[in-house]
Amino acid sequence: MLKLYADAYAALSTVTPIPADCGMLCQNRCCHGDEDHGMILFPGEAEFLGITCKTREMNGMEVGFFTCNGTCRRNRRPLSCRIYPYAPYFKDGVLTVLPDPRAKYVCPLLSEDAIGFIQADFLTAIKTAFTVLLQSPEISDMLVRYSEMLDEYKKFTEKEW
Ligand code: SF4
Ligand code: SF4
Repeated sequence: MLKLYADAYAALSTVTPIPADCGMLCQNRCCHGDEDHGMILFPGEAEFLGITCKTREMNGMEVGFFTCNGTCRRNRRPLSCRIYPYAPYFKDGVLTVLPDPRAKYVCPLLSEDAIGFIQADFLTAIKTAFTVLLQSPEISDMLVRYSEMLDEYKKFTEKEW
């Protein structure tokens, strides 16, 4: 599992959603950490990072939940931060990468004007990372639930992407 995370993190180590600091667009809106707002950790990720985390219920499954104070060492930020505002979606054995419906009303990169500027290598890297992680049955099972959770959020977004 640790090797899978090492490879997944490596795939995402240099890519960014756009070729600029998108935090300048929104004053780092997705990094305003507090006790209630945080990110889901994938199975085994807390152990890989050597951190302790809280837990949250996600579609009937207990998952790791990490909160921060709005700062971190960039090379140690969790997967959920690396891939934001996109998400892996795993259904019927097929992995895709889609705009995260939880980010739709938060992240300006998902606005109609901006979404066309998302870099292809960023999306490719997300798919590569999760293709690697899917070798773990534990992560595979979790991603099915995670995708069902995304389906629930998609019901509340304005339209299908
Ligand atoms: S909310 Fe979107 S635009 Fe703002 S820092 Fe996060 S990823 Fe970048
Ligand atoms: S861990 Fe880092 S990248 Fe993730 S929300 Fe906190 S400050 Fe932002």
